[in-house]
Amino acid sequence: MQVFEHLGLFFRKRLLPWGQGAAAMLWPRQCLLCGAFPEEGTFLCRRCWQDFSRTTGQDYCRRCGLTVGPYGHLPDGCGRCEGQRILTDGILRVGQYDSVLRDMLLRLKFQERTELADFFGPFLKAVFESRSWGQVDYLVPVPLHWLRRLQRGFNQSYLLAKALKGLEVPICRDLVRVRYTRRQWNLTSAQRRRNVKGAFAVRKRHPFKGASVCLLDDITTSRATLNECARVLKRAGAQKVYALVAAVADTAEFD
Ligand SMILES: [Zn+2]
Ligand SMILES: [Zn+2]
Repeated sequence: MQVFEHLGLFFRKRLLPWGQGAAAMLWPRQCLLCGAFPEEGTFLCRRCWQDFSRTTGQDYCRRCGLTVGPYGHLPDGCGRCEGQRILTDGILRVGQYDSVLRDMLLRLKFQERTELADFFGPFLKAVFESRSWGQVDYLVPVPLHWLRRLQRGFNQSYLLAKALKGLEVPICRDLVRVRYTRRQWNLTSAQRRRNVKGAFAVRKRHPFKGASVCLLDDITTSRATLNECARVLKRAGAQKVYALVAAVADTAEFD
């Protein structure tokens, strides 16, 4: 018994500071979010699971990703995105950017809680496998500018793509961000569009011509980034550009 206690102490004291990630997943003694005891065999406590299920259980529009009620769907989208400029050919999400989902994504990005990407992996995979799009040739994480990646140490979208284990679809990183852009959270939708205009490009020997591509991002708010990526990929010859995101902010602001 004492051996286990020592081992536990060793894990928490020695391993956690090196890599919260692997150690926390091996040793889930606390809820990934609030520190309470997790449900047996899972990484979240009962309350956090309930919040997570609520935000991921809502129905949403497969064109814009916004939450819609049972009568909000239209043949081609929903009442909230009707007539809006959306350049992606479809979107799938894990949930609405709200409550614990929002907490998790903020922690992943700004507190370097990279183990949370692994948590999202199976959910993203399940959502992706429910698609009605048919064949997808490449999974393309929305790129960060190299300077931003240097500041943060990682690209959260690439971590999410890597966490999608067991998919037959290869990850392609031939979409790059060529211009350093301001953080978008406090910008209006028109400013967001200007902010990302010309920010992306494809590498010279990209494989996108005639391909069906799925972008992967952590959050979308105004769809400005997804639209701009889709525009660049389609100009490079991509036939279809879809999007898979962990969360969609519930705002009807389109870019
Ligand atoms: Zn919790
Ligand atoms: Zn819609």
